[in-house]
Amino acid sequence: MQNVETLYNIPHIVNQGSDWYHRLSRTQDGGTKIYGISGRVANPGWWELPLGTTAREVLERYAGGMADGVRFRGLLPGGISTAFMTEEHVDLPLDFSSIPPEVGRLGTATMIVLDDHTCPVGFVLNLEKFFARESCGWCTPCREGLPWVAKILRSFEEGRATSEDLSLLKMHTKWLAPGHTFCGLAPGAMAPLQSALKYFHDDFERHISAGGCPWSKKSSQQRVLV
Ligand code: SF4
Repeated sequence: MQNVETLYNIPHIVNQGSDWYHRLSRTQDGGTKIYGISGRVANPGWWELPLGTTAREVLERYAGGMADGVRFRGLLPGGISTAFMTEEHVDLPLDFSSIPPEVGRLGTATMIVLDDHTCPVGFVLNLEKFFARESCGWCTPCREGLPWVAKILRSFEEGRATSEDLSLLKMHTKWLAPGHTFCGLAPGAMAPLQSALKYFHDDFERHISAGGCPWSKKSSQQRVLV
């Protein structure tokens, strides 16, 4: 990939050799990575670190942990086309080989943190609205499916969702899976949704039983759900 991150490494690799560059990593994937973190953390930012640094190190050592008063629930490790990782995954080396496929993939290493004051359904709705807008319309599953997904998620937030909508969301993650569309936009859109349905399933159920978003029904001081 010829992005800025790749290009700025080239002079150093030419000057010091590929072995030197490879040894900068902690794992079999050579070199360094620019790890970023955003969300309600104490010190959001970017750091060039050895490839294979863990999410916990970036969050706790470099970003200073979570902001006051909020707790960690999960993170998207590499942009919005990657799957949520939760507490059980934060000690995995963040590189291209160490994250099991059933967990996800590194992506850009620009982490977005989900905290316990933020509704995971609303969080994913925001992402899916973006993907639906970005669809070029070439393939039917993406053109029709992404706006449908956004519409269903909105129904959860607005208190109109039923358990049938939960099944529909799960079906979309199969209809828009890799191999069903021409490019990776739609499968990328399904990564955060599919993992949210897995790790935050109770929150989707809670929207149905509460008749809307439990977060929006509480004051900002009361939004922590136990
Ligand atoms: S999957 Fe890619 S090519 Fe197909 S409609 Fe979506 S953006 Fe266009």
